[in-house]
Amino acid sequence: YEAKQDRHAVRRFHADLSAAALERMELEQALRAALDRAEFCLHYQPIVDAATGEVRALEALVRWRHPQLGLVPPGRFIPLIEGTDLIVPLGAWVLREAARQLRVWRRERPGLRVSVNVAPRQLAQPGFAEVVQAALDEFSLDAEALILEVTEGAVLGQDGEAHVSRVAALGLPLALDDFGTGYSSISRLHRLPACWLKIDRSLIQDQDAAAPARSSRPIVRALITFAHEAGVQVVAEGVERPEQWRDLRGWGCDLIQGFVVARPAAPDDLVWGPWRLPSAQAD
Ligand code: C2E
Ligand code: MG
Ligand code: MG
Ligand code: MG
Repeated sequence: YEAKQDRHAVRRFHADLSAAALERMELEQALRAALDRAEFCLHYQPIVDAATGEVRALEALVRWRHPQLGLVPPGRFIPLIEGTDLIVPLGAWVLREAARQLRVWRRERPGLRVSVNVAPRQLAQPGFAEVVQAALDEFSLDAEALILEVTEGAVLGQDGEAHVSRVAALGLPLALDDFGTGYSSISRLHRLPACWLKIDRSLIQDQDAAAPARSSRPIVRALITFAHEAGVQVVAEGVERPEQWRDLRGWGCDLIQGFVVARPAAPDDLVWGPWRLPSAQAD
């Protein structure tokens, strides 16, 4: 009886697998067509000075403007697309579009920067640095204008560290994104030529002040100290509550990004602040 059940399970597994594979292929084709039809757009989320609330940079976050489904968030298609070569043309489009938009903003806001997420496969492309340089040149931007956000996964992967170093050697600023989610290794941090350490929101949001020893508070404080010793600025991601912002500021965190400041928005809908730390709710 058990063996029979196993056989059923195996058959079902194969059926599910081919359905999933079919969906994957269909989604891949749809994404290819979407790229041709220019259905992607970028939203931007402010990254503010923790002390003054002034906007220093914006993170560009891609969305798919689907004719039927509406605005599709990246979590629904980026993981798939990152596993295919489609990420290369999409990534190049994101870089150029972010550069174009930054050129417009810089007329009013010199020194503003935009950070762009870069997938491991993109980083590994031999011509990647040239794609970034072409976007900067086309819109007369300096090398510091665009910050390339890479995850630990990209650095850990095969030759990852070499790809990262090659890009950094050209003077392109790097941010280590989602720090604290993967096999974060503090020991390699000092070897990475990153200008920003972005602490993942899972560490930011697990900050029970009532039980500090059991929350991530000591880890976050230690990361800030460590990053500063290594000459790296710290960005806290996913800051949702005023108390979190206040604590992070007290610990010397440099930059804040999260719903407490603003959600990602289309360029026309952005509010520029300066953002004030809302007074904490009475408790
Ligand atoms: P990420 O790079 O870590 O971007 C931050 C994500 O956290 C964004 O989700 C943002 O909306 C969300 N977020 C910001 N503040 C808060 C907060 O206070 N609370 C909560 N709960 N969430 C917050 P989004 O826009 O859905 O993007 C998800 C991920 O998709 C990004 O994570 C990034 O890994 C990827 N992604 C987005 N755009 C691109 C792109 O152009 N290329 C590549 N390769 N990946 C991208
Ligand atoms: Mg990011
Ligand atoms: Mg992130
Ligand atoms: Mg994250």
